[in-house]
Amino acid sequence: MKKDIFLLGSTGSIGITALNILKKDKKNFKIGLLTTNSNVSKIYKQAILFNVKEIVIHNQNKYFKNLNKFKNKKIKVFSSIQEALKFKKKKSHLTINAISGIAGLEPSLNIIKHTSNLAIANKESIICGWKFLKKELIKHKTQFIPLDSEHFSIWSLLKNENKINIKKIYLTASGGPFLNFELDKIKKIKPKYALNHPNWKMGKKISIDSATMMNKIFEVIEAIKIFNLNSDQVEILIHPKSYIHAIINFNNGLTKLLAHDTTMEVPLANALYFSQNKYKYNNSNFDYQKLNGQNFIKPDLKKFPLLKILDYKFDNTYLEIILVSLNDALVKKYLENKITYITIHNSMLEMLKKKYFKKYYSLRPKNLNDVKIMVKKVNQYVDQHF
Ligand code: NDP
Ligand code: MG
Repeated sequence: MKKDIFLLGSTGSIGITALNILKKDKKNFKIGLLTTNSNVSKIYKQAILFNVKEIVIHNQNKYFKNLNKFKNKKIKVFSSIQEALKFKKKKSHLTINAISGIAGLEPSLNIIKHTSNLAIANKESIICGWKFLKKELIKHKTQFIPLDSEHFSIWSLLKNENKINIKKIYLTASGGPFLNFELDKIKKIKPKYALNHPNWKMGKKISIDSATMMNKIFEVIEAIKIFNLNSDQVEILIHPKSYIHAIINFNNGLTKLLAHDTTMEVPLANALYFSQNKYKYNNSNFDYQKLNGQNFIKPDLKKFPLLKILDYKFDNTYLEIILVSLNDALVKKYLENKITYITIHNSMLEMLKKKYFKKYYSLRPKNLNDVKIMVKKVNQYVDQHF
């Protein structure tokens, strides 16, 4: 029987990579749901190509404007994932959440009871809502698979290992496009240069986060939550070739590391086939030359001052939500050319210290609504300042 897949955020970079894998195996997979924010023409083509009968368009204007376009093809269009799920009688085999930003949290929470396995690329939802996600995953016996390449590597390396034996985990960072530049020299660098990542082709938001090192800060927090680690058990190492994704050092003196090509195809396909173990990557020959001359260096705080953020204690309080939302808002302003590159750094560090936010760092959101209220508050604050 074909395995049913729900793909959230199908029109983005991860979504498209996932569809390229699924395209090659229509015999074994069928797509039950695709979603976009506003890219109607792309999701239309995807729905036709994969014969998908249910799709979601989040953007309300686009949703209303395009209802007829889909009706002609007998495709049902919904304005939210929650609405679409009301009509789903059977659990999907696997859901991939490839939505960007904090908007990915609500869909993840809503979909858990409708899927046997949930693979999340959307790191923002894990950082801000892991406590809620975990509760739902346990309640509905849904298996969780992290998709971020570093976390997929850790997850894979930890199979048959007892987590108690972990001494330290190293997450590798490419260093992004500005690894060899002093921050002083690139204060006003334009988004098009910051978007030009040396190793990965990704969506805009995560590309800027990779340049500022915010992406790796998020990934440290993500790893602490998923693998239940102490903050001193996770460290960042710059590794410009991005061939090795994670290194785990165990108490027994063994160290495991995982290497794969710099493409999200590998974690995505291995997640899609994880229960069958029959995925064949077309470039799977081991190339020992790639392992020669691998460089690992500790990141420089002067080049990447946002790393100071890791001094905060991330304990499922409002801090995580404020951090993710401030970054979402500042990166958006930068991409719109409303603030400079250095302002992302300075404003982030300054705003996090403001009394206005600090008073929440000892309080915990109780539910999704609390999270949403804080996200709105942060966005309003940033809008008032720029
Ligand atoms: P993209 O920006 O390329 O795609 C994001 C997807 O989410 C699009 O389908 C977009 O729709 C949709 N979307 C955006 N905003 C909303 C919203 N408010 N409501 C509903 N849907 C929305 O992002 P990426 O594919 O690069 O990244 C997706 C996630 O995966 C991010 O959290 C990222 O951090 C993580 N990730 C990405 C990696 C990568 O290589 N790209 C690697 C590891 C993790 P539309 O097309 O209409 O904008
Ligand atoms: Mg990553």
